[in-house]
Amino acid sequence: MKKLKNYFLNLSLKKKWTLSASFIIFISFACICVVIYFALYTWLYNNEQNNALRTVDDLSSFFNSQEGSITIHEFQENAGLMKSIINQNQTVRIFNLDGYEVLRINNESPAAQINVSYDELVKTYVTKEKVEGKSVIAISRVVHIGQFHGYMQLIHPLKSFQSMMQYVMTAMLIAGLGAILLAGLVSSYLSKLLLKPLGDLRDSMQSVKEKGFEERINFTYQIDDEIGDLLKIYQLMIDELQVSFAKQQQFVSDASHELRTPIQAIEGHLSLIKRWGKSDPEIMEESLNTSIKEVQRMKKMIEELLDLARREDKDIEAIANIEKVLQSVKEELLIIYRDAEIQLNFIGDPKPVAITENALAQIARNIIENGIRYNDKNPIIQVQVNFLTENTFLTIKDNGIGISQNNIQKIFDRFFRVDDSREAVGGGTGLGLSITKMLADKYDIEMDVSSEIGEGTTFTLRFPN
Ligand code: ADP
Repeated sequence: MKKLKNYFLNLSLKKKWTLSASFIIFISFACICVVIYFALYTWLYNNEQNNALRTVDDLSSFFNSQEGSITIHEFQENAGLMKSIINQNQTVRIFNLDGYEVLRINNESPAAQINVSYDELVKTYVTKEKVEGKSVIAISRVVHIGQFHGYMQLIHPLKSFQSMMQYVMTAMLIAGLGAILLAGLVSSYLSKLLLKPLGDLRDSMQSVKEKGFEERINFTYQIDDEIGDLLKIYQLMIDELQVSFAKQQQFVSDASHELRTPIQAIEGHLSLIKRWGKSDPEIMEESLNTSIKEVQRMKKMIEELLDLARREDKDIEAIANIEKVLQSVKEELLIIYRDAEIQLNFIGDPKPVAITENALAQIARNIIENGIRYNDKNPIIQVQVNFLTENTFLTIKDNGIGISQNNIQKIFDRFFRVDDSREAVGGGTGLGLSITKMLADKYDIEMDVSSEIGEGTTFTLRFPN
């Protein structure tokens, strides 16, 4: 039994399903058949028995109607009338009280043994017997025919009843076999149909495992049921994993590529200090300063790369007070850039925007700071917020060096820096605007840039309401 259970558990899901469904259908069918068979058996058997009893009753009435003076010999001579009372296949025998047969009508079956008391014969004795291998109903009852006292025995053969039951049994067996076959076919087809998406899912997982995220199977199953949900969740999960994996790879390759230059520079300066620095304090001072700057740049770059690699979900409930955020960014920047002028201007009825205050501050800080840094005049940054019914617009306009039309599309790319600005402003990493773009995309903020060399640059952000 345990072996059988283990064997069953180790079968494929499709086979388990087919076997279980066929088994359950077969058992249900078998139970129904057994109940129907026995109900039919009892009903038909009772019918046969009632028929036989009715004949016995008719015979009894006939015997009772005979004259009191009639003798059994006279009666024997008139026995022909009794033939019309009984059926052709029934046999009736009349015995005297010593068990000696005195009259027989028809001779279809031999007599059955009667081993019961006289009292029971008075009440009518009914049995199911087997005489000469054939099933019969035997009914015995006491009879009084004029002067004669004895008992009669009616043998009612069950031939037609038995062939009827055999016919029913054969029909049920054929129907049962047909039901098993049909159940097997239907459940095998259904399991194939329903388990196909699971097979696809397994293949897709196998393919992701062996060949990575690129080689994925597209599921054709588009139905909104539990399996459909499972496939959708799997797709979403794999998409997320793919993005995270790509970000991770990007981080590793960016970091190893971009950090090599500052590390080499620091290494060069340290060798310089080792060789000449001890005797020349000027070289020592210069090399240390450059090294510190490179270390600071490296630190900033690593923080920014981590910001880009970190995949935080959009906070759907976030709201920010744009006036408050811009005010605090302004104060923060003015501490570092004392010469700069930042003008804030709000138009319309203030309303909150759907973004976290941190993300908004980071976006505003990056753009305003660039406007101050990439500037050859006294930096003036005009920040204006327009609260409209549909949207809120934030415009940040600087009077800096501007960006050429060639470069304007590239400023959001990772590590992109306009050549001139590298010389003009130190410490940049080329990541600030990539982070700004990533945050804007996350919170569905549309961003637009226009610029003119020597005149300045304007960033326009449209926040959804
Ligand atoms: P970083 O400032 O660290 O170099 P960013 O991603 O913030 O990196 O900017 C990318 C490049 O775009 C800068 O190096 C600069 O050349 C150019 N840039 C950005 N903002 C401005 C601006 N307001 N005026 C002129 N050039 C800009």
